[in-house]
Amino acid sequence: MVVALNLAMFGPPGAGKGTQARRLATERGIPQVSTGDILREAVQGGTELGREVKAIMDAGELVGDDVMLGIVRERLSKADASGGFILDGFPRTVAQATALDDILEGRQGLVVLEIAVGDETLVNRLSRRRVCGNCGAIVGDTNGEAQLLCPTCGGELSQRSDDREDVVRGRLEVYHRETAPLVEFYQGRASFRTVDGDQPPEVVAQAVQAALSAVNGAAA
Ligand code: ADP
Ligand code: ZN
Repeated sequence: MVVALNLAMFGPPGAGKGTQARRLATERGIPQVSTGDILREAVQGGTELGREVKAIMDAGELVGDDVMLGIVRERLSKADASGGFILDGFPRTVAQATALDDILEGRQGLVVLEIAVGDETLVNRLSRRRVCGNCGAIVGDTNGEAQLLCPTCGGELSQRSDDREDVVRGRLEVYHRETAPLVEFYQGRASFRTVDGDQPPEVVAQAVQAALSAVNGAAA
């Protein structure tokens, strides 16, 4: 039997969830479901949802659980998610985690990874982070010099409006208050693992693979 990977990754802003989720999704041929990306697309597209969430996101606050649950329920019901998915940025509250268990009722077991990184590293990383407007690549700086063009496709790089230092501090507070309690929520499960995200991306990727193998081993 082919084992579908149903994975949720959480971690503070800037922990590298997006980078790891993207890589894993490509490797496994399953969709990366980034709630942050879905919301940002709605804002860009000027949809009703986008107008509703823009101010909340710019302030670094969390969008309401009901709205988020509607989005995730709909996305996971699509055909391409039936053979596995990687949730990136969801759940972010204990209420979302509880509801996710209900949504996934009857599907294969959920694997949950926490990507852990300390606050000071995060503030540093986020203030330097740039995103490619063309291919979506996330670019850190190299040798202390911020890059202007995407090294992958040459597209223009820009800073996310919520990556300014004052907003970042607030997002970290929200993380500690609303999302960090997920560790306790998932702690007792054999399919929960924490990965040290304060390492180079390739090393984190190896640690993610090792964690997934360990979970598989424990389930066998
Ligand atoms: P990061 O993990 O770097 O903070 P994301 O791209 O995951 O960035 O999310 C950006 C913003 O989108 C969040 O600050 C929040 O306002 C909103 N958001 C994304 N996912 C959720 C969620 N599951 N619940 C509530 N708000 C969310
Ligand atoms: Zn690019």
